[in-house]
Amino acid sequence: MTNRTALVTGASRGIGLACARALAESGARVILAARNRAKLEEASAQIPNSTWVELDLSSQDSIKAAFAQALKDVGRIDILVNNAAITKDGLALRMKKDDWDAVIATNLTGAFLAIQQVLHGMMKERWGRIINISSIVGETGNPGQANYVASKAGLIGLTKSLAQEMASRNITVNAIAPGFIETDMTAALSDDLKSKMLEHIPLKRFGRAEDIAAAVRFLASDEAGYITGHVLDVNGGMYM
Ligand code: NAP
Repeated sequence: MTNRTALVTGASRGIGLACARALAESGARVILAARNRAKLEEASAQIPNSTWVELDLSSQDSIKAAFAQALKDVGRIDILVNNAAITKDGLALRMKKDDWDAVIATNLTGAFLAIQQVLHGMMKERWGRIINISSIVGETGNPGQANYVASKAGLIGLTKSLAQEMASRNITVNAIAPGFIETDMTAALSDDLKSKMLEHIPLKRFGRAEDIAAAVRFLASDEAGYITGHVLDVNGGMYM
């Protein structure tokens, strides 16, 4: 991946940080993006050939400014990993509209607006990789997560539509649907819930951020050039 430049959203920790590390190890120059400046600095310091930009995906102005800064720093973006996301769980009956809006804005609209920032450059280069991190629940549904699930299912629809729009320009667009991965996002779940989930994972372990990063690295590579519009399950067999 030498001579490629990748921007990873939500790269300050968890899956995004592992993706940034894996892409850098493969030779890409990597830009880490998220809201927390101190965490970004700390993360970027661990990854050779990386830089960072502050980005808040819930704000279109922030998205425009962050991508303008990134393009100024590195010239072009060949690989975009839309990884950042938030949850604001609750049963649909009682879900506040603010919680619905916040999750859709960051997870789905933010990803779409980020994609718009890189398309012109990729079309000019006639090469591009867009990888959207969806979720197993975007395929199966999940009670208590209507907003998050809608955003993740939306990302799958976005992936397939964009894959068709961009194929003639040699830009591939794929999604990854992680199962249960051990990160900050899942750390708050009770031990009871975790052991119940484990019963439904044929490979009998929770996923690691590196499991997702390996799939991202593959989809970003030249070797994956004939794969587009695909949803790659990385879930230990939890959903087939
Ligand atoms: P995480 O540990 O909660 O990290 C989320 C990342 O997103 C952080 O870097 C965070 O940094 C960033 N972020 C949050 N809001 C943002 C915003 N408005 N603008 C920019 N950056 C923002 O999450 P994770 O577990 O690594 O999950 C990564 C991706 O995998 C997400 O799309 C998630 O839905 C998906 N996924 C995770 C699991 C799992 O089991 N963990 C399962 C399926 C899918 P700041 O707070 O500094 O902005």
